[in-house]
Amino acid sequence: MIALASYACNPSASRGRLHAPPESGTRGPRDMFQRDRDRIIHSIAFRRLRDKTQVFIAPDGDHYRVRLTHSLEVAQIARTIARALRLNEDLTEALALAHDIGHPPFGHAGEDALTAAMAPYGGWCHNAHTIRTLTVLECPYPYFPGLNLSWEMLEGLAKHNGPVVSPSWALSAYNAQHDLHLATFASLEAQVAALADDIAYDNHDIDDGLRSGLLAFDTLLEVPFIAARWAHVQSRLTGVPHEQQVRELIRDMIGQMVNDLVTTSGANIATAAPESVDDVRAHGTALIQFSPAMAEAERQVKAMLYAKLYRSAPVKVLQHQAKEVVSALFAAYHAQPNLLPTEWSARLPIDEPERARHISDFIAGMTDRYALARYAEHIGPPTLSGGF
Ligand code: MG
Repeated sequence: MIALASYACNPSASRGRLHAPPESGTRGPRDMFQRDRDRIIHSIAFRRLRDKTQVFIAPDGDHYRVRLTHSLEVAQIARTIARALRLNEDLTEALALAHDIGHPPFGHAGEDALTAAMAPYGGWCHNAHTIRTLTVLECPYPYFPGLNLSWEMLEGLAKHNGPVVSPSWALSAYNAQHDLHLATFASLEAQVAALADDIAYDNHDIDDGLRSGLLAFDTLLEVPFIAARWAHVQSRLTGVPHEQQVRELIRDMIGQMVNDLVTTSGANIATAAPESVDDVRAHGTALIQFSPAMAEAERQVKAMLYAKLYRSAPVKVLQHQAKEVVSALFAAYHAQPNLLPTEWSARLPIDEPERARHISDFIAGMTDRYALARYAEHIGPPTLSGGF
């Protein structure tokens, strides 16, 4: 086993958990971050990711990514990078597996609907909801709420986009009990998980976009990086069916991005020469980065996906319908809380904003499938049905 770098997160030097229960020894020796990963995998919120989508809302096809398979792909990519840089793989994996756990049904469409519905009640955002899900809503233990994750895990989830200048109320609430040092950068493990997310979805959205027919193959070649990689793949794989060449293209692009990230970040680390993870936190910039050329290529890939896929007319129609489903469900439960399942109506707070918050918690936890079923039950047949 490769020794951890001095700037990696070391489980034996963890700042610990908010609550200090006796660690269970029944599953053999597992360190702090391995336990974090296992708690995520065994959580209810993690299982619900199997029926939550982002681009291809409630898809008919079994071959599209869902948030669960997306999270597994992010974890795979993140672990590869972590190992190459001698970072803690378990923490990196746990962060990757948990990063999308706060997403409501129907991805950004659901988020827009909840944000609008909750605007009078303190707002809503998926990052805050990830922290709330893991520290308040998941309740597997009898003595305290939440999964009681390590400081490093919650730090990584809170700061995955860099230092937090204006924390959401959910993050502030946790931070008041367990100071996550929000003004500093996150560990390299968290920085890796954040960019592994981009590598995963850039490439799998190209793959799913082609599968759906919404993205024409020729459109991809308008991005110089993709055109160059395609030329490379074609020169290596002559006489191979187009479909397999395309799969090789996706693999190749993931490899290019991972290699670039490892090389560039390794050089950044060598220059900054952090001796500890606290040096990483105190460093004025993120150290895990693409080279300027790859950062530009990645930006162009994203711009193409926005223009041709995420903002395409058929996806927009679907997102509009999905937003309608979430807005209508919120209005219905808020006006008639008796529609809530017993376990949720029994705990309904009397006062606002807690009452609206409780309803948004219920809706945010829904899968796409469950939201459509509740809409059909309370409101009527949804216009939205699996699109692609
Ligand atoms: Mg993601």
